[in-house]
This record gives sequence, C-alpha cells and structure tokens, in this order.
Amino acid sequence: MSSVLGTYARKNISFKEGKGSYLFTDSGEKYLDFVQGIATNILGHCHEHLVETIQKQSKKLWHISNAFVIPDQERLAKRLCENTFADYVCFQNSGTEATEASIKIARKYFHKIGNPEKNRIITFEGAFHGRTLAALFAANNPKHTEGFGPKVDGFDQVPFADHEAIKRAINKNTAGIMVETIMGEGGIKVIPDFCLKGLREICDENNILLILDEVQSAYRTGNFFAFEASGVNPDIVPIAKGIGGGFPLGACLVTKKVSVGMTPGTHGSTLGGNPLAMAVGNAVLDVIFAKGFLKNVKKKGEYFDLSLNKIKKKYPKIIKEIRGVGLIKGIKMLVDNTEFVKKLMDHKMLTVKAEENVIRLFPPLTIENKDLDEGVYKIEEVCKEMS
Ligand SMILES: *Cc1c(COP(=O)(O)O)cnc(C)c1O
Repeated sequence: MSSVLGTYARKNISFKEGKGSYLFTDSGEKYLDFVQGIATNILGHCHEHLVETIQKQSKKLWHISNAFVIPDQERLAKRLCENTFADYVCFQNSGTEATEASIKIARKYFHKIGNPEKNRIITFEGAFHGRTLAALFAANNPKHTEGFGPKVDGFDQVPFADHEAIKRAINKNTAGIMVETIMGEGGIKVIPDFCLKGLREICDENNILLILDEVQSAYRTGNFFAFEASGVNPDIVPIAKGIGGGFPLGACLVTKKVSVGMTPGTHGSTLGGNPLAMAVGNAVLDVIFAKGFLKNVKKKGEYFDLSLNKIKKKYPKIIKEIRGVGLIKGIKMLVDNTEFVKKLMDHKMLTVKAEENVIRLFPPLTIENKDLDEGVYKIEEVCKEMS
C-alpha cells in the first residue's frame, strides 16, 4: 500500500527517463508525451541546456534566502520586464502562490492609495487559479472547494463571457478582475481578443485592475504571453508551469503603478527565486528568446491545428472542436474524454483531461513536426476505434 496521501487517482505506470517528446518506462516502453508534466516541461524532457545549467549551478549555490541580492534573480526579473508590460517581478515556487501574490498585490495597491475598501476580485465560473485556500475560493469550483470551508471571502464570481454580469458585479469594493487568458483546466477556452479589450475597458472605466492568469499559457502560444495578440496590457500577471521547464518556479509580474504597496516585509517566500530556480528560469528564457523560436512555435501550432482539424472533419461524431493557440491545444470530444485518454495510452500516447469533455495537448515547444504527426496519427487511430 502506498504511503502517499491519496489525493490523486494515479495511473498505474511510472517512468524511468525522458527525452524531448518521449518518456520511457522501466521495461523500456516508449510513450509520446503530450502532457509534459501538465504544460510544464515546456522544452521537453531533459533539454540539454537545462540539464547543463542545473548541473553547473548545483555545484555552485542552491539557496541562500531573499535576505541577500541574488544576481540571477535580478537578471531574470530584468529580462521578464524588458520583454513584457511589467516593471517588477516577484518570484514564487508555484502557480497558486503566484495567483495569491496577485490578489495580495491588488489589495495592497488600493490600501496604499487610500481606498482600502477596494479589496474584492471578480472571477469567472469554470476558472482555475490553484489549490491554496484563497485561490480555491477565487475559482470556486464545487469539486475543489467541498469540505474546505469556511469560504474565503473577497471574490465575486460571474458567468464566463458575460460582460453585462461583470458590469453588474462591480461596486465600490471591487479591486479587480482576475481571469485566465486561456482557461486551461476549464477546457482550453481562449478568451477572444475583443473580450480582453472589453475587460480592459471595463477596468479602466471603473478604475480597477486587470489580472490575467497566465500560469498555464505563458510562452506557449507563439507570443510570450497569450494576451499579447490582443494588444491589451494587464496590471498583474501570475505565471508558473512552463517558466521553470519542469523545475518548481512561479512569478508575479506587475506594473510600477500597482507595485507601490509592496514595500519591504509585505510579502515573502523562503525558497522563491533561489539561485537554482533562477538559473533554470534564465536557461528557459535563453531558448525562448533565441531568434525565431517563438515564431517557430506559432508555425508549429498552425501546422498542428491544421492536422487536428483534418481529423475533426473526418470524424465529426467523435470530435466536436479543436481549441487553443500555438502549442496549447484542446480537443472537445463527443465521446467520453476519459475513455479517449485511456485508449490513447494504449497507443502509447499521454494526454490530460480538462472540463467540458476536453482532452489537452501540450507538446513541448521544441517538438519536431514528425512527432506532432505521430501524435495526430495516434489520435486518428483512436477515433477510428471509437467510430
Ligand atoms: C496550474 C494552474 C495554477 C496553479 O499552479 P500550481 O503550480 O499547480 O500551484 C493556477 N492557475 C492556472 C491558470 C493554472 O493552470
């Protein structure tokens, strides 16, 4: 019997090693991995530059605490700011910590400028912001909150995509709107650019903040952030998952304006931003910022999209819709998604479910077209079987 607390319904399989798009079991069975640690191993398994970086850094310095200047942290923050809307970054260890930091920073901003009553955040049905208490009740998914009350207050939830409901929900206590640019766990639901623009307008009209949760979507769409294509600038953006390439790393990006409340002592993390994590975070950026890399992600995403849509056309009773941008994709199924994922596993391909009967595909950004083709081939095989 396992001594690990039973909070996961684990598949009875384990892996010995990984390389790029593939995972290998003890007995040497090879799996095509489109889960990648749930959108996390953004450069695939054991990317050479990341392996080298972590080996080198592990011999120099792992952890010293944020009581001291950490040069690699300064560098990573600078690179993130120079290439985005942000002026400052604070580092965490996970996505949920990054979303919690976002909520704290929004509240502290209004407290600092003399509007402490503005402390509530509007969130959306079907959202996911992580598993700590505030993040849990911010998303307010009954599947996740049951038994974990009392409810953490401070969030007003509205139906997804209902701009009128948002406007009605705003009152003198509203500090901001928090939403995932692409709802990941919710089923790879992309917020259209005109909606993002609409949200920005609502925020500006009401003097409240726009928090775009990019924990799952950052670096993946062919742009640095998923919201960039809309031209909208948020106030606060939590990121995690892919930014550490599989190493625990989260961050919260903010503008100068909203940073004013965050003075020494107001927030902290013992491990957040330590030298080992920062070395990896910088190494991931080395690859992402290489000339043409993101453009190539966009190209691969379009290629993948075309291939998936071809299967959709061939199997209209199995596949309802192809969702997503770049290399964050969802397939909304007309058959049971659990069964589809299971059958894909029989074909030695790993995928992960989401709400709305969707399966999610997170190929590494470094994937070659032939590996994308293999994934598409396996998906088609399962479509055939289930027809
Ligand atoms: C995964 C996820 C989180 C939580 O991240 P953890 O690292 O699991 O804490 C928060 N927001 C979004 C959008 C996510 O996809």
